[in-house]
Amino acid sequence: MRWLLRALGIVAVLALAGAGWVAWRLQDRPDLSRYARYEMSAAPPATRRPRVSVSFLGVATLLISDGETHLMTDGWFTRVGLGDFLLQRAVSPDTDAIARGLQRAGVTRLAAVMPVHSHYDHAQDAPDVARRTGAILLGSESTAWIGRGAGMREQQIRVVEPGVPTHFGKFTVTHILSKHVPLPGNAQKGPPLTAPLIPPATVRDYPMGGAWSILIEHPLGTALVQGSAGFVPDALKGRRADTVFLGTGALTRQSEEYQDAYLREILDAVDAHRVIPIHYDDLFAPVGDALVPSPALVDDVPAAFDRLLRWASEEEERSFALLPWWTPVVLFD
Ligand SMILES: [Zn+2]
Repeated sequence: MRWLLRALGIVAVLALAGAGWVAWRLQDRPDLSRYARYEMSAAPPATRRPRVSVSFLGVATLLISDGETHLMTDGWFTRVGLGDFLLQRAVSPDTDAIARGLQRAGVTRLAAVMPVHSHYDHAQDAPDVARRTGAILLGSESTAWIGRGAGMREQQIRVVEPGVPTHFGKFTVTHILSKHVPLPGNAQKGPPLTAPLIPPATVRDYPMGGAWSILIEHPLGTALVQGSAGFVPDALKGRRADTVFLGTGALTRQSEEYQDAYLREILDAVDAHRVIPIHYDDLFAPVGDALVPSPALVDDVPAAFDRLLRWASEEEERSFALLPWWTPVVLFD
């Protein structure tokens, strides 16, 4: 009996030490100050000159506007705490955070809100954002069921047909089927939703549901939003985008070959001239005054940036840029 108690004691001490180590390592965040010179400058006050602006609102949430028509990817403002995530506690969208986020970004009307896939960190708040802004919720079948679960009317929901463009003002939006970055567990798998997802729900209740490369064309320029660091070989063949918002979350956890293939299949495929990383901030940190990068334990953000800088240095017309936190910049003019 004594040996059993002793063994249990040792296991408990090791578990505590392990948890302590993880907690300590999660505080270890990279210093990104050496990349500050790549940050785009805030857009000057609007003039009559036509332009398309973009604001980075965290993770893969982007607000893209030409002054008349406003589009948003994801629209995610809730942050699920690490404890709720690990313990699979059911959570609801944080309606205060959503209201605060839209107000801070100066959003009252949106033409469309478009989750890059249906995981909670992309699609959880999209129905509420759509309801507050009159936006069409545009995404996968799973995204539509998340909308229905939140009580959205059918007229405000549109299920994407891959490769078929939708027009919003002067914008043309085309969703091209892509893949999710490989993660431990089954990020790709898990059946799509076939019934309304009614919150509160656990993060695992949000299936991936199909990952998109979203092509956003405008007379002033074309951008591609790649939310997750996955790809389908040749899926973007024949498409063109000047600027790619490239999801780098968990990219540095993949093999060198995978990382090369990702850049080739996304950036090179569309002949991009400018790459702007997204999805490198900490999913668990509340949305605050400054971007909080992913902890080194989760992702090597500087290594991802350095890889993109190498890609940019390969040809003269290429560039690497960073979006400032919650500040509109000129994307095309
Ligand atoms: Zn995901």
